[in-house]
Amino acid sequence: MSEPRHHDRPRAVVVGGSLAGLTTALALALVGCRAQVLERSGPAPRTGGALSAAFAELAPVIGDRHARTALGTANPRGRGRRAADPMPWTVLREGLRRAVEDEPLVSLHHSTRVTAINQNEHSAWADTDDGRTFAADLVVGADGHRSLVRRTLVPEHPDASYAGYALWIGQTEEASLRGVPRTAPGLFIEASGPHYLLGYPMPHEGGRTLGWAWYDATRNDLMRSTGSVAGRVVRHSLRASAIPDPVYRELVLQARRHWPSPRAEAIIDSIDRREVTGVPIAEYVPRRLAAGRLAIVGNAAHVPTPMTGSGFAASLQDAAWLSRELAAADSATVPGALARYENTRLDGARDLVRSGQGFSRSFATQP
Ligand SMILES: Cc1cc2nc3c(=O)[nH]c(=O)nc-3n(C[C@H](O)[C@H](O)[C@H](O)COP(=O)(O)OP(=O)(O)OC[C@H]3O[C@@H](n4cnc5c(N)ncnc54)[C@H](O)[C@@H]3O)c2cc1C
Repeated sequence: MSEPRHHDRPRAVVVGGSLAGLTTALALALVGCRAQVLERSGPAPRTGGALSAAFAELAPVIGDRHARTALGTANPRGRGRRAADPMPWTVLREGLRRAVEDEPLVSLHHSTRVTAINQNEHSAWADTDDGRTFAADLVVGADGHRSLVRRTLVPEHPDASYAGYALWIGQTEEASLRGVPRTAPGLFIEASGPHYLLGYPMPHEGGRTLGWAWYDATRNDLMRSTGSVAGRVVRHSLRASAIPDPVYRELVLQARRHWPSPRAEAIIDSIDRREVTGVPIAEYVPRRLAAGRLAIVGNAAHVPTPMTGSGFAASLQDAAWLSRELAAADSATVPGALARYENTRLDGARDLVRSGQGFSRSFATQP
């Protein structure tokens, strides 16, 4: 069989323009596929945690040029990093967005919410809330842990489940903490009863940002009363403005009780600025990754606890294998390529989520 010509390469609609959606679109572009990315939120950056993203892992998937842009050599907050340093989620998201702007085969549509997904023998399409339809040879769901594409693709197993604990996440500039010891480089981990603390200094050109993530298994009632968790389903994170003042006051007391200096001061600084997000943790072990002309990647496909530290790395693997299969496909052979993508990735994705469930089961107090 001859290789399809460049202009015959499958075209994709990607639902979700966060880390998984943007890396998938760039990976598809690298093998000559056009991609339209539909993202419901506007271009303003969201708050987020931090994660590791190394050039050596990103470049083979999205190409050297885009990897350099994504990792922020053009961004003062990205300069001064060593390859293994974690980086703020927002900096990586912004870097990937810039890379996409620089990629003629990818278009990113903000403020475009997908309301329905469909497919037939010849194509797949996404309907949006402004009445438009985006059709292509395939639809890729990169729409996160409450994925609509997953719901369409695997209706018998649509939802990720609440793992029974939440994370408080925040960041503070080390320079704003006076009179406390400097944090040593690298990851730190502390444990104290039903609490765990992970953190890392993230160097940038002007100093260091201290990122922290506090695992808290005592807040199930709060998560339910605020609607962040309903039944066993995680609905949304708890924004800083939605965290009640009495909870902030309790967190200050608990930070002093559970965490040594300078961890406690960093957390209290974030609390004082009301720059803390509560993240109820979800988990999802996949049964399918593709059906016909639909595929899922990233948190739409598999949701491991952040304790695995591997959600983004797994999203990169998805993007790599999906683009590898589509590189040799044309419109007619898309379903076969997606079936091979599922075959290659499913076991690894299931193992990753299960590896984190051991921690979750021992840590959660009342799932
Ligand atoms: C606190 C925390 C810490 C983490 N730390 C690490 C780490 O250290 N290392 C690591 O590898 N991974 C980490 N992860 C996981 C990692 O961030 C994710 O796995 C990775 O970012 C992939 O996310 P995603 O793009 O699939 O999903 P999301 O980031 O959830 O993005 C989904 C996107 O889809 C959009 N969307 C949803 N529905 C629709 C719709 N209907 N129409 C249009 N758009 C839609 C959303 O607006 C969103 O932009 C962490 C996760 C969390 C929560």
